[in-house]
Amino acid sequence: MENIYQKYHVHHVINASGKMTILGGSRVKEDVCQHMMMGAQQFFEIKDLLDQTGQFIASCLDVEAAYIVNSASGGIAQCIAACVSQGKLKYILDIHHPENVHRDIVLCKGHNVDYGTPIELTISVGGGHVVEAGYANTCTLEHVKAKINENTAALVYVKSHHCVQKGMPDMKDFIALGHDYHIPVIIDAAAEEDLKKYLALGADAVIYSGTKALEGPTSGLVIGKKDFIDLVKKQSQGIGRVMKVGKESILGLTYAIEKYASRKPLTLQEQSQRLSHFNDQINAVSGLKARCVQDGAGRAIMRSEISFDEGILSMSALEVAKRLKEGDLCIYTRDYRANEGKIEIDVRDVTDEELQWICDKIIQIVRG
Ligand SMILES: *Cc1c(COP(=O)(O)O)cnc(C)c1O
Repeated sequence: MENIYQKYHVHHVINASGKMTILGGSRVKEDVCQHMMMGAQQFFEIKDLLDQTGQFIASCLDVEAAYIVNSASGGIAQCIAACVSQGKLKYILDIHHPENVHRDIVLCKGHNVDYGTPIELTISVGGGHVVEAGYANTCTLEHVKAKINENTAALVYVKSHHCVQKGMPDMKDFIALGHDYHIPVIIDAAAEEDLKKYLALGADAVIYSGTKALEGPTSGLVIGKKDFIDLVKKQSQGIGRVMKVGKESILGLTYAIEKYASRKPLTLQEQSQRLSHFNDQINAVSGLKARCVQDGAGRAIMRSEISFDEGILSMSALEVAKRLKEGDLCIYTRDYRANEGKIEIDVRDVTDEELQWICDKIIQIVRG
């Protein structure tokens, strides 16, 4: 096959950082690509295709309704638009119509994150206006309640490693509070792995990214209550058009979800097993220490955490992370804690061969 890296003069990237949007998300498996090809090469009535694949996914996951969108961001914006317009065509066609003041979206301040773009901007694309509840490190149900009024269109809960992980309300209580006030509750679970538990807590809609845990094409999934999903679908006449999803992605994601729903995920122990030879090699180098650690946000993901002893190595973890990205093989590691002297290796999208390359390059860098 033609070498794409050479042809377009782009770096050959090894993704040991996780499902990062800036690197293209996931490695899409061969069988999912085949379904994308079937989608690309045939015609469908798109509305029908979206309705039927939505029903198929809903039955796979045993939920009320499902709808494929172009990205989790597109899903968030259209869910917000559904709450802001409440099915009124006048507002669907002009989501920022000044007459409509029913657009306050309450979320905890610790959830008002930047996931590559501010979620506040994504919400405003859908006509919403963010109203923060609580403070950066603490938000109670009372704080949320204090921000609810007659202009509140929805409550949004962001379940993510990007968020403040403590001092935030329990999701179940947050949802119950919204429903006490008859206000819909939307959950952004873009990078989460569990397709059932958040909706089961009673949310109106839960949004996932197609290219993160689901390992599908660039796309998004909204699951939720049928009436709510019907309102989301109506946005295709409005803002939905600038974020439409292609038929190849619809078929690719549907198949990826079917596969995902029946998969047997690797246990934490099996994941650690895969890292053991890598960790042994790193631990043989003075100044480096590798061990298996579970995902900081509690997901069932094991990573290798490498600590760099700056005294011995005369080089910081930040410097190593930077050097890994240089040269012919551009290696992206998980660097959220590099300022504490630790980088993590996420192997979900790394082959065994690539894992060895990563090991060799780290050792080569620290040895000079
Ligand atoms: C990745 C992410 C998104 C956006 O997902 P896309 O599919 O890239 O639009 C939204 N929210 C959170 C919390 C994310 O992690």
